[in-house]
Amino acid sequence: MSFVFPSFVLAGPVGYPFDGSLREGVSFQKYSHKTRNLFDYVSPPSFQYGSLELCKLLTDGAQFVKSNWKERLRVGDLSSEFGGPLAEHVNHQNGLEADVGLFAEKKKPPGHRAKKYNNRFPELFVDQKWTVSDNLDLQKTFELMEYFIEHATVEVILISMDITRQFMIRDLPGWNWERKLKVLPYLVHRRGHTDHFHLMLKCPPSSAECQVRPNFWKNFPGTGLKELCPAQKRECIREMTDIESQQWMRSIETIISKNKSKASRKVELPEMSRH
Ligand SMILES: [Zn+2]
Repeated sequence: MSFVFPSFVLAGPVGYPFDGSLREGVSFQKYSHKTRNLFDYVSPPSFQYGSLELCKLLTDGAQFVKSNWKERLRVGDLSSEFGGPLAEHVNHQNGLEADVGLFAEKKKPPGHRAKKYNNRFPELFVDQKWTVSDNLDLQKTFELMEYFIEHATVEVILISMDITRQFMIRDLPGWNWERKLKVLPYLVHRRGHTDHFHLMLKCPPSSAECQVRPNFWKNFPGTGLKELCPAQKRECIREMTDIESQQWMRSIETIISKNKSKASRKVELPEMSRH
C-alpha cells in the first residue's frame, strides 16, 4: 500500500514577512492581465507574486484610482514566486506586501529611473534636506492609503515620516481629524520610502502557517531619525532605537488626539531634538 500525499496544500503566506515563504503564489501580472491598463508595473513579473488577497486588493485599489482620478496605479515589488528573500528587502518574503507608488502632481513617464531593475518609481518626493516636494500629491496618496485601510486588514504602511508629518500638518479639502485618525496610526517611518509606500497586510485567517509578529519593532531594527532632523542638528542624526521609534509613534498619537479635541486646527509637532 502506498501512501498518497494529499493533493492540496494550503496556498498563501507562510512564516513572517521577514522570514517566510509563499505557497502557490499568484502572479500579479497574470492576475491583473485583463485590467492591465489600470497599472504601471515598475518591477519585473518575477518580483510580483503575492497572496490572492493582496492581488485582489491592488486591483480594487487601481480601480478606485482610475475611477476617481483617471490615473494608473504604480506597483513595484511584491514577493518572488515562492517567497523568501527578495532583492535588498528585509521583508517582502511571504506575499503580503506591496510597494505602491506615491502620486505626483506632474508625472514623469515610468522608466525615468529605468536603470534600476526593480521598484523603478520615477519620482523622488523628499530631497536630501528632508524637504517634501510640492510635486507630491498628498491628497491622492492619503486617499489611496485610506482606501486600503478601509478595504483590507492592513498591518502597517511604511513611509518616510517627512511625508507623515505633511499629512498631520496640512489641511486639504475634505480632510478632518476623524479621517486622519483612521490612517495615521498605520503609518510607520522607514528610510527610503520617499517614492513609494510599503503596504503590509495581516495574515489572512485561512493561512494557518502565516505568523503574527510578536513585536513589530523588534523585527525592524534600524529605523532612522535622519529624515526628521533639521540639517544643522547633527546630534540628532543617528539611528533611532526601537524604543524611541515607539515613543515617536505614541507621541504622534497623543498629538492627534489632543488636536482632535481642539477647535483649532493648529498642530504642535513634538520637539525632535529631545530624541
Ligand atoms: Zn517594500
